[in-house]
Amino acid sequence: MTCNEASRLIGPFVDDELDVRSAVDVEGHLARCAACAQEKSEITALRDTVRERLPRFDPPDGLEDRLFRATRVVALPKRRIPWRGAALVAAAACATLVAASTLHPARDAAVEEIVDAHVRSLQAQHLTDVASSDQHTVKPWFQGRIDFAVPARDFADRGFVLAGGRLDVLSGHPAAALVYRRRQHVLNLFVAPASTDEPRRDFSLRGYRIATWTQDGLRYRLVSDVPASESDELISLLRGADSSR
Ligand SMILES: [Zn+2]
Repeated sequence: MTCNEASRLIGPFVDDELDVRSAVDVEGHLARCAACAQEKSEITALRDTVRERLPRFDPPDGLEDRLFRATRVVALPKRRIPWRGAALVAAAACATLVAASTLHPARDAAVEEIVDAHVRSLQAQHLTDVASSDQHTVKPWFQGRIDFAVPARDFADRGFVLAGGRLDVLSGHPAAALVYRRRQHVLNLFVAPASTDEPRRDFSLRGYRIATWTQDGLRYRLVSDVPASESDELISLLRGADSSR
């Protein structure tokens, strides 16, 4: 055995990975060759150091049990078909969701933007430019600041208090943001001119509920974290409200 051959095999030899014949050959070479013997003792020293110095972690309590149970779930007998059925339904639902979101990237970006504008209004201490629950104050405030009449209406008697309004920008266009308060929640209603009529659409993103619709040439985008039943209530108030109020 040459030094080159030995050098290649010293690592596996130290790790007990060689077959008996190769191990005997390496052992014979090491006995005759000081250089290779030196290399072997360096590798052994390194291995021992690694074993001693590297931190070791005990597995957390119950890991073994959990792994065991997880493996048993995977190896379910055939009579547990309902579970597999449910998993297939869930997988199909996920696939549908993925497909839906990849089919409408532009809409997703628009919904993202609505949520971002909502979150920004809550974080930046810039919820309102005009703080008033008086629709006769909020509505005229927008005049001259935005080129359409903003239907600012208060629904305090129904638990949706008009807190004020501000100018915002959505999709690169100015939008009026009307701010409603419901208990400790804030609802942002973005209003902007609409060029087409669109039915109501509902989305949820990052824990927020978003509804969009058009009415009387205006596009409405409502975002909040109130329960669906409550945002629905405000939407029907907005859609049903007498716009001359
Ligand atoms: Zn050698």
